Amino acid sequence: MAIQSVTRTHRASIRNQRQVRDGLDTLGFAAAKLWNVARWTAGRVWDACGQIPDDSVLKSYLKSHERYADLNAQSSQRVLEELDEAFRGWYGHRDNGNEKANPPGYRKSGDEHPRATVTFKEDGFKHDEKNGYIRLSKGRNTKEHWSDFILCAYDANPDVTIENVQVVRAVFEHGEWRLHIVCRHEIEVESPGDRTAGVDLGISNIAAVSFGDETLLFPGGWLKESKHYYKCVEYECEGENGLSRRARNAKRTLKERRRHFHHTLSKRIIDECVERSVGRLMVGDLNGIRSEDDGAGRNWGRHGNKMLHGWAFEQLTTMLEYKGKAAGIEVVVDSERDTSKTCAVCGHKNGSQRVERGLYHCENCGRTANADANGAENIRQTLLPNPDAFDRLDRDNGCMAQPATYSFDATEGRFLPQERVRCEP
Ligand SMILES: [Zn+2]
Repeated sequence: MAIQSVTRTHRASIRNQRQVRDGLDTLGFAAAKLWNVARWTAGRVWDACGQIPDDSVLKSYLKSHERYADLNAQSSQRVLEELDEAFRGWYGHRDNGNEKANPPGYRKSGDEHPRATVTFKEDGFKHDEKNGYIRLSKGRNTKEHWSDFILCAYDANPDVTIENVQVVRAVFEHGEWRLHIVCRHEIEVESPGDRTAGVDLGISNIAAVSFGDETLLFPGGWLKESKHYYKCVEYECEGENGLSRRARNAKRTLKERRRHFHHTLSKRIIDECVERSVGRLMVGDLNGIRSEDDGAGRNWGRHGNKMLHGWAFEQLTTMLEYKGKAAGIEVVVDSERDTSKTCAVCGHKNGSQRVERGLYHCENCGRTANADANGAENIRQTLLPNPDAFDRLDRDNGCMAQPATYSFDATEGRFLPQERVRCEP
């Protein structure tokens, strides 16, 4: 059983609608006005320098603007972040070849300002759990002498507990103001079982997963090709004043592709674990290696070093951790401990690393295995109570010599099985 933190948004109606309506209207109009001021500013910067400022630039430009003080500072910041997200969404559409996509426009409803959503973060609200009230802060300009805040009496679904409130959004929908309350709940998730698996994160195989009697390999070919392609675009388009627009787009696209790949891969690994009743997953990360960028550590070869980006492994590890947790799997992350030198079958530690063409050959027992499968199995064994006593006995290394390989299919957006390649002993 694992305890998992989940974030849920609960919609609530406001009982004292009549009392709070004017106050919320004022804030909603203020949010729309601030959006328009920021949109106008972004347009000016764009015309002048050909670049759209991001939210941090907009924040520093506008923090002393009169309209900024109409809302609580965090609420104002959120409006600028929303505009930034809208611009990014538009870049995404354009990068995907959608020429008809329009940049975010002004917030208008006829000749008037619409009631835009207002977001309240930690210092923008106070929750009275006992009485079912949420107090929302106004901005310096909108405070009146008799009231600094708007006190909303809310009605949420009686089946949910409004607790650990993270964010509150005042949303005008169907002609009235409502609250979207974002809560953090601690829930118990049942473990899928008591088996153990090990993951070895690597370079040519981004992940090798060992279940003891079965090994799965996930090569990173697609990622490597994307990386190669977008790096070329980036270099070609490097202007005199740093990265050109096209180069920046290439950089961003590559980042998004890698993220997508990691999401799909981590989800797939966790799904495979759940299917096999795995309750504990050991992830061998490359901490020990990636800190030695000067090559003083293990030699991965020219291409290996080029591909070795610590944060990419970090991203994948983090995803495995939270997806595992959500599935009730305990995920343990540890640095590799000589996992590539030790034979997972007999436990013999080879003095020289005998890896050739991705195959590990044991000089003691004479077995040959896929090197990444061998590493993953060693990582798995570190979680077993006493691997030397029983688990290494009678092991057939067939599953390590012939792991099942799944390659990423970009059109389908998932990993599909490759035909098993027979390894020569
Ligand atoms: Zn051996």
